[in-house]
Amino acid sequence: MEKSIIQQSDKYASARERMVRVQIVDRGISDQAVLRAMRKVPRHMFVPQEHIREAYDDYPLPIGYGQTISQPYIVAYMTEVVRPTNRKSALEIGTGSGYQAAVLAEIVSHVYTIEIVPELAEISSKRLKSLGYLNISVKHGDGYMGWPEHSPFDIVIITAAVEQIPQPLIDQLADNGRLVVPVGAPYAVQELILIEKKNGKIQKSRLTFVRFVPFKRL
Ligand code: SAH
Repeated sequence: MEKSIIQQSDKYASARERMVRVQIVDRGISDQAVLRAMRKVPRHMFVPQEHIREAYDDYPLPIGYGQTISQPYIVAYMTEVVRPTNRKSALEIGTGSGYQAAVLAEIVSHVYTIEIVPELAEISSKRLKSLGYLNISVKHGDGYMGWPEHSPFDIVIITAAVEQIPQPLIDQLADNGRLVVPVGAPYAVQELILIEKKNGKIQKSRLTFVRFVPFKRL
């Protein structure tokens, strides 16, 4: 007999549960909403067919067009750091596969996400719709200028490495908002930086070292 859909989704459910326990909880992520989101989003639906067996493994995967879906732990870490709640809105730069947007959308009220590669914007937009995410808006374009019509954002997540943080994205951050971004040279190790805005003032903290694909300009 052919493997039923249920058996298949069970297979992924146990891989996903193991991913959350071993890669995420054991490394110190404790925000319950973040853990719930990581347990729910079907990561295997966000990776290319040829990598589906590695969907829950502990590393980034290629998604075509020279881009990658981040390692699960990094997605969980960046999501926890911006303190998502159901009253907050978020802007993501670098939709890629749409996975980080989906994880955020499980928690916040709305996610606006911008992708510079037209094919990825299109594929991810369709994927997120077919998975039932009504609270994600995907736009094709250069995220440098942000999405002023929907600003300010309580959360800004930049998932490509910048040498300098784009000023429009800092400007579109709400008061008491949090922005997270990898800063450093392309194709090198970058530092993950957290920006907090308090009474209009910017506070910067250095979090950890990461490796992201470069932020491009149109
Ligand atoms: N968050 C993604 C992974 C991002 S990889 C996920 O969950 O799968 C980084 C993405 O940023 C790539 O898809 C790349 O094309 C995109 N990107 C790079 N520069 C950009 C820019 N200026 N504006 C919007 N997207 C950009």
